[in-house]
Amino acid sequence: MPRIAFYTLGCKLNYAESSHLRQQFEEAGYRVVAFGEPADVVLINTCTVTETADAECRKLIRRAVRLWPNAFIGVTGCYAQLKPEEVARLEGVSAVFGNQEKGYLVELIERLRQLGGGPHVLVSPFHTPCFQPARSADEDSRTRAFLKIQDGCSYRCSFCTIPAARGPSRSMPFEQLTEHIHALAAAGYREVVLTGINLGTYRAPTGERLIDVLRLLERIAPPFRIRLSSIEPNLLTPEIIELVARSEYFCPHFHIPLQSGSPEILRRMRRRYTAEQYRRLVLTINERIPGCAIGADVLTGFPGETEEHFEQTYRLVEELPISYLHVFTYSEREGTPAATLPHPVPQRVRKARTHQLRLLSDLKRQQFYRSALGSLRTVIPETYNPTTGMWEGWTENYIRVRFAAPPTLPHEPLAIRLCWLEADAVVGVVADNSYTPLPILTEPCAAPPSSSSSA
Ligand code: SF4
Repeated sequence: MPRIAFYTLGCKLNYAESSHLRQQFEEAGYRVVAFGEPADVVLINTCTVTETADAECRKLIRRAVRLWPNAFIGVTGCYAQLKPEEVARLEGVSAVFGNQEKGYLVELIERLRQLGGGPHVLVSPFHTPCFQPARSADEDSRTRAFLKIQDGCSYRCSFCTIPAARGPSRSMPFEQLTEHIHALAAAGYREVVLTGINLGTYRAPTGERLIDVLRLLERIAPPFRIRLSSIEPNLLTPEIIELVARSEYFCPHFHIPLQSGSPEILRRMRRRYTAEQYRRLVLTINERIPGCAIGADVLTGFPGETEEHFEQTYRLVEELPISYLHVFTYSEREGTPAATLPHPVPQRVRKARTHQLRLLSDLKRQQFYRSALGSLRTVIPETYNPTTGMWEGWTENYIRVRFAAPPTLPHEPLAIRLCWLEADAVVGVVADNSYTPLPILTEPCAAPPSSSSSA
């Protein structure tokens, strides 16, 4: 039985696709082994979001070649799609596959192993890309699954290589959704994350949009809660907010990319909203769904970003009820319009701004966690730490919670009273011994007992 090892870098979509590939190789008779164990085939699924991501991919490929000098080393994903020659030049690489080739990797690898030689480069351009479904399990807990319903992006933000690496936006056919939802329910998952590269642009070949997907999910009434991954601010419609506000199936959690709080920088980034529209959107959500988690992506050091532009970003995040940030440092990406813009920001300034925003993110997260103390929330136990005797899991509104319970606890949702703060989590107590039925949203934040909090 041939053995295959996987390694994945990048976003949740890449992880969903690797998980899907793992299942396909298992069905074809392969045994999946951990990275580092003896293997006949190694498949690396790469990312190209920044220069650092590219460098990380190269480092990993070199490590794989050192670890398995006689194995078939296949490289796929966004870095492979954008820079196939660069990857093929790395010593020991057997084959480079584009993102579209992910749909046929079992057959391709079988054939190329027989053929020998290499490196082979099989990277198709995105002339007529089709949607390739993928669903994945969270390897750590087996409680959460990711369902990819959209791929690619047809926007043209000036700093971004994703449209080139993933192709234009395309979506899962609407009629396939029910089958995937039933399969995830049958597998026993308690949380499903709907993912895509630009999820808000979901548009089925038959015309349905993201709101139709959400309404369908509500009608199916699955035995799990549903979390939405990132949605662009201009695509997060009042209908979606309203549905999440009133439905018991959807987690009160939005991730809304901001990138910059400066109107001028947003314009140069070719984003499709203004800072003011973003501000109003976040305030509307906060008013309509109290206790809702709101995350944001921010990019520091875009060409021409002055101290004043950065201050605008910092102040906007500080002022808004944002719960946490994902902060990225801008790097010039070949082939993007932003790479040719004048006034690049010095590297040390970019890093300093990233650091400042990450500190602000820690502060925002703590404020958000503190505001939830005293409330009752639903937590799905995910991992158990035998040293501390504590379980860890997440609330529906994205608060990391630790609580004491026996190690034999099933991965079923529990009502947990949030009691006090630790550095990166809230410690809670099980409210009662019965499992909460899913889906459930518990009472909104009660007035927090200030005496029980400790930062
Ligand atoms: S919306 Fe903009 S930043 Fe996001 S993937 Fe598309 S082009 Fe890139």
